[in-house]
Amino acid sequence: MTHSDRPLVAYFSMEIALHPKMPTYSGGLGILAGDTLRAAADLGVAMIGVTLLQRQGYFAQSLDSSGWQYENPMPWEIGQYCSELPVQVDVEIENRPIHVRAWKYEIQSCRGNRLPVILLDTDIAGNSDWDRRLTDQLYGGDQHYRLCQEIILGLGGVRILRALGHQDITRFHMNEGHAALLGLELLDESAQAAGRSQFNSQDVQNVRHSCNFTTHTPVPAGHDRFPLDLVQHTLARSDIFENHEVFCCEGELNMTYLALNLSHYVNGVARKHGEVSRKMLVPRDQYHHYEIDHITNGVHLETWAAPALASLFDHYLPGWREDNSSLRSALSIPGEDIWKAHQAAKQKLIDQVNASSGTGFDINTFTLGFARRATAYKRANLLFHDPARLKNLARQVRNIQVVFAGKAHPHDEQGKHLIQEIFQQKDSMLPEVKVVYLENYDWELARLLTSGVDVWLNTPLPPLEASGTSGMKAALNGVPSLSVLDGWWIEGCVEGVTGWAIDHVGESYHNDQERLAHDANCLYETLENSVIPLFYQQRDAWLKIMAHAIALNASYFNTQRMVQQYVLKAYYD
Ligand SMILES: *Cc1c(COP(=O)(O)O)cnc(C)c1O
Repeated sequence: MTHSDRPLVAYFSMEIALHPKMPTYSGGLGILAGDTLRAAADLGVAMIGVTLLQRQGYFAQSLDSSGWQYENPMPWEIGQYCSELPVQVDVEIENRPIHVRAWKYEIQSCRGNRLPVILLDTDIAGNSDWDRRLTDQLYGGDQHYRLCQEIILGLGGVRILRALGHQDITRFHMNEGHAALLGLELLDESAQAAGRSQFNSQDVQNVRHSCNFTTHTPVPAGHDRFPLDLVQHTLARSDIFENHEVFCCEGELNMTYLALNLSHYVNGVARKHGEVSRKMLVPRDQYHHYEIDHITNGVHLETWAAPALASLFDHYLPGWREDNSSLRSALSIPGEDIWKAHQAAKQKLIDQVNASSGTGFDINTFTLGFARRATAYKRANLLFHDPARLKNLARQVRNIQVVFAGKAHPHDEQGKHLIQEIFQQKDSMLPEVKVVYLENYDWELARLLTSGVDVWLNTPLPPLEASGTSGMKAALNGVPSLSVLDGWWIEGCVEGVTGWAIDHVGESYHNDQERLAHDANCLYETLENSVIPLFYQQRDAWLKIMAHAIALNASYFNTQRMVQQYVLKAYYD
């Protein structure tokens, strides 16, 4: 097929991580969106990304001396990365037109292809001051602000694509429910094409055929729901609720159900998450039946390989960027070369830790890494459940070092307290356990951390981790995971080969607190009996684990394989 014959996919996401200096993402969802588009560009899949400009970014995190998080805006140099497009459209909110313009960012693939991403912007003359701020802040403001943003993304996104001449889009991919209002625009288009002023079930069938939806979390707060009166007021359209098949769910507009109702293909982001979503997202009426598949997430390997590891792969497995499955042969790389590359990546992290905290980290000491959004279910404090036991364990094996990082959502008080708890515990762990909490976890810090620690720790409360991708970045860099069996790790863990499970067969718990104690106990046992002795005393066996993490996990948990599965299951069928 020539390029112009290929089906064109429009990929809509509220956040997309496009460049380390563009703060247009908050965490895993945005990184995944960026990695997806980067892999699509490498594969030559015809795709165009759509998101909001986020002039003020998500936020820059600073921690005061008590470990309390403060959020600062992150304005960025838009013109340095993006070029303005000569199009403008209007979107109606509360019966007034809001002008929307667009910027383009171009992703460059490993083979030189370019993939365009459209960033929508309402900061233009003719809009009121309030409307000009609508594309400023990712996940900022209240429910009303959020709904306005989703109207801009969904309706504005489709209109901008049409204004750019894209009548040729065969699939609209909603990455999370935030983008689901694109379906409303498509319904209106379909009705209009048939000469009707209002959409009907034929239009719903048409739209379903061209949409697919990826759901990303089993956590209820992760699913947007808006009260109907807010929606009526903001969208200023009563007609949509007359068609209760699509829009109305129990007195609210639920963006997840809207996306489900308008998609012919729906997936969760790991095998287990598919199962959990099938149980959780059940039809609420007799009209619907949802089939929810799964496509397990991945990471874009070229983006996440530390320079030392990338050189190593270039030397032993040339072509790994173009064909990620080449890393399957990582067992042929001499162990001492993997070790040298790892030590180079570790040195970079240690330099950064010591420069920013003066903690005196040392390259020969076993180092654990834990970085993720600070929120209750991720249980960042599991490692410190029994501080005396951890100190004792460290004393027996020499010392250990732990690096933490992660932002809490500005409204997540409990998450902020978790950061503070770790922050305040760290001094009491000295001298056996050196702990540092690095500020402002972002793309660049994630690269340093996932390649520079010896083991990547993950302790979510199952089944709440949909997939997780940071452990995949670690595996690529030869860093094994020590993780609760949840999300991708159920598929990626081969015990003692690619890492270790925090698991205890046959035990049951009556509540989350009991589970926490069980998991902590298992974590300490695994560190004490398996992980740390191997690291300090059996270097050859350790190097085999590093090689297996690359060979078994990086060769599979990448977005090249993932996008190919989307092509097969969602885009080209
Ligand atoms: C990869 C990444 C994430 C997602 O990691 P999880 O394993 O899902 O927690 C979040 N934030 C940043 C900055 C990342 O690079």
